[in-house]
Order: sequence, then C-alpha cells, then structure tokens
Amino acid sequence: MTTAIGVVITEHIVAGRLQDQRLSGDPIRYPEDIEELDALAALPGSELVEILATQIETLSRREPVPVDAIGVAAPGIIRHGVIEDSPNLTQLKGMRLADELTRVLSVRGITAPVHIANDADAIAAGVAATRGQLNKLTRVWTIGNGIGYGRWPYVEGVWEGGHTVVSLDPKEKFCGCGGVGHLEGIMGYRAMRMRFLDLEPEEVFAQAKQGDQRCREFVELWHRALAAATASFIHLAGPGRFYFTGHNVGFLELSILRPLIESMVKMSTLQSFSLEILCPDDETALLGAGVSAILALAS
Ligand SMILES: [Zn+2]
Repeated sequence: MTTAIGVVITEHIVAGRLQDQRLSGDPIRYPEDIEELDALAALPGSELVEILATQIETLSRREPVPVDAIGVAAPGIIRHGVIEDSPNLTQLKGMRLADELTRVLSVRGITAPVHIANDADAIAAGVAATRGQLNKLTRVWTIGNGIGYGRWPYVEGVWEGGHTVVSLDPKEKFCGCGGVGHLEGIMGYRAMRMRFLDLEPEEVFAQAKQGDQRCREFVELWHRALAAATASFIHLAGPGRFYFTGHNVGFLELSILRPLIESMVKMSTLQSFSLEILCPDDETALLGAGVSAILALAS
C-alpha cells in the first residue's frame, strides 16, 4: 500500500491525500473562496511555499499512516525539482521548489521526499493512472490562456509543445513568448484576444457557428494549428492516445480536428491514434502529481 500527497498549483492550489492512487477524503483548496481568482499572482514565492507546507501538513496529520511521497504539479518548465520558467506565476521562476519545500516541511517534522512535476505532465500521469495504462504513452494538450503539452511516462526534456511552430507566416506573432508562428500564438486565449481586438474569443467561436466568414476562417486555422502540432508529435513519437483538456477545451471540436490530422498523417503505421476530450478538473493533476512522486521513489 502506498500513501502520497498530491498538490496542484494553477491559479489556485488544491491538495489531496492519496491511498493506492485513489483520492482519500476531501481535497483542500487555497484560497478557500473559489470566487477569488488572482490570489496567487501577488503572492511572494516564500509565502507560497508556506501555504503548500501548511496544506501538506494538514493532510499528513489527517491519518496515522505515514506519507511515502509528496508530489507537486506546477505550471512551467520543471527540471530536477527546479522551476526553470513559469510565465503565468513569474515569482516561481528559478525557484528550487523541491529543496525549498523539503526544508520547510522538515521543520514541521515531515520528511517524505518531494517530487515536482509540470502540470500538464501530471494530468497525463493522472489520466494514465485512472485508465490503468501507466505502461502506455499518454499525451495531453491543455488549452487555456497558454497551451500546455504533457506526457506520461516522464522523459527528460523541455517539452514546450505549446510553442511548436505551426506556421511559416511572419504575421503569426501573438505568442506570449514572443516567438513567431507558434501554436499558442494561434490557440492561446491571450493570443486570440490580441488577434481579435473587437471580439472576445467566445464571440469568435459563436459567430463562426452563425456563419461569419472571418470567424469561420479563424476557427479552421485554430483547429488546423492543433492538428499540425499533434501530427508532428505523431511523426516524432508515434501514434497512441491524445487527450485534450483545460479551461477552453470547449472550443475544440474533434469532428473538425480528426480529419485535419488524418490529412497530415499518411503513413499507415502512424494512423492508429485516438483523440479524446476530458472535462477539466484539478483532481486528475492532483492524482498524477501523487502517482509521479510514488513512481519516482522506485527510479
Ligand atoms: Zn511561443
């Protein structure tokens, strides 16, 4: 039997206790008020670590069984427990989160090893665990303000799939990173607002359905960009399972995406891919963070 604590940092923090890869008891949330949206943005990194430690301590003391591992999923480029970059929570950039959290927890008498995962990788791990397919390649696109790419099993690398180049048009320059032709520069929420200064992204998709030519062309481009990036990953790592989730996954229509990918992937051995939309939730990433931490113990 294994016991883990999984934590997910998005624009809020959710933490839960896991028993054998299942959530045991209710998760806890910071801030408790779900209406408060910007609670983490203004928080200094050191305070954020204290909040994480308090949540972990509360969950750790909930039952007498000791915790084997602690997994934290955070947005950004994560390597060896260090947050190398995190565009949406800039105070985390450069933070040695695994070391910092281990130190703060040890003061509180908690000594279980801490493992940090990228949030999209944690979702991929969580999906693989819930579907009983931890031995298979699982890939996840998270569609939100930015575009995230996650994969299970974890492999060393950067994996900034949202910055895949999907266009050679020099006018495609809306990506938050400043790069030209990026997937996120077409699909990201912020990028869409910069492209359509007169319409919100929700209105663009609604007006496309009503037949507006400019909006229809953009919705086609939006799906074509995702198809191109997905096709590139199929050509690199093979077919298999792709999942789509995130705050704006409601814009995605698999009936548009699938034929576009099929038009881009023609080698017969690569055509056995599957596509599935997942309702966005924190629990999948929470579970994945915990599972990754437990499995990292063995490696
Ligand atoms: Zn970019």
